[in-house]
Amino acid sequence: MVFLRPTYLIDGDITDIELNRLKQDGIRGIILDLDSTLIAPRSGRLTDEAAAWLTSARADFKLAVVSNNTKEEYLRKTAALLAIPVFGNAAKPSRRVLLKVLDSLALKPEESVLVGDRPLTDIWGGKRAGMKTVLVYPLKTMNEPGWIKFFRKLERAFIKV
Ligand SMILES: [Mg+2]
Repeated sequence: MVFLRPTYLIDGDITDIELNRLKQDGIRGIILDLDSTLIAPRSGRLTDEAAAWLTSARADFKLAVVSNNTKEEYLRKTAALLAIPVFGNAAKPSRRVLLKVLDSLALKPEESVLVGDRPLTDIWGGKRAGMKTVLVYPLKTMNEPGWIKFFRKLERAFIKV
């Protein structure tokens, strides 16, 4: 389904995204999904690998996190941990918050990517906002139950139809 097809399909997690490639393609801003993409849900902790990737990304791109999470305390702590602006309650695939964040960072949608682990929220939302999109697998360090893995495979199969 074309509306779920990302610009970049990564066969790995966020740390496998080649930042140089994005730079060469004219990308200036990276909007990140939070849960499963950047940190394990409710863990409140960043792995060394993800932290290293973020450090590299920070050097060349404007960064923000846009999450559907609604827990204010969690979002506030996460913003402090990441030292990146975090916008919650985004209701992706709605594009409302995404467009607001791009505007606040003075980024055009077409020079920005939305990075996320879910086609139906992250990828669809990014595309609706006119952004480029990157679909990643959840962090390698996360151990998800088998049924969730199955559902992810199914969702990935749908983007190719
Ligand atoms: Mg996620």
